[in-house]
Amino acid sequence: MPNSASSVVAIDGPSASGKSTVARRVAGELGWVYVDSGALYRGVTWKALREGVDTSRPEAVAALVPRLVWEFSEAQRAVHFTMDGEDPGLQLRSEPVREAVSDVAAVPEVRAFIVGELRRLTAFGPLVMEGRDIGSVVFPLTPLKFYLDADPLERARRRAQELAQAEGRSDVGRVLDSLARRDGKDSARPTAPLQIPLGAQVINTTALSIAQVVALIVAAVRRAAAPP
Ligand code: C5P
Repeated sequence: MPNSASSVVAIDGPSASGKSTVARRVAGELGWVYVDSGALYRGVTWKALREGVDTSRPEAVAALVPRLVWEFSEAQRAVHFTMDGEDPGLQLRSEPVREAVSDVAAVPEVRAFIVGELRRLTAFGPLVMEGRDIGSVVFPLTPLKFYLDADPLERARRRAQELAQAEGRSDVGRVLDSLARRDGKDSARPTAPLQIPLGAQVINTTALSIAQVVALIVAAVRRAAAPP
């Protein structure tokens, strides 16, 4: 029963709201397994671009999905995957993937497939999963739902800092535009849009440190697990 996930922490929110770092650390503190659901959407996008599929054509993207062979594994308390035997690694973070992923993630066939795969990952144990629709669609029955947000400029600053480290360049203005484009598409799509899941605890991370956000979530999870 995929939705009876008593041991899934769902962390949703817009791009660069701090989800990845926070979710990884929460998983570390709890000894649970971390899942980056966005990596699967990026994986399909990476494959589509590599195979010359026009990512603005939903039917072309949908046709690619059944042909992909995924393998999932767990290492160091995180879920990893290969596609057609290949580990996409850092290619998932490239600019072409970043710019096309929201179009690919809006395709219902892509979402249906990935949601099914994400639900199966409970086989690896209790999960901390981050994304856009984890508390609303993937595991709507988990009581452990969090929605992280932060002011757009602060999010752009954080992402620009990451990009400067990874790619040696960054421009807060361009990052701000790119995040706004992606969040706009993620929020406006008809299937599983980005939204605050019913029952989620909303945490505005603008003025909080990562450690403070992690502590809030870990405390809430431990409270929920404690006998009355
Ligand atoms: O989290 P990340 O930035 O890697 O996600 C990349 C994209 O994947 C998002 O902008 C969104 O379009 C899509 N996504 C999604 N649902 C999720 C996770 C990611 O639609 N659960």
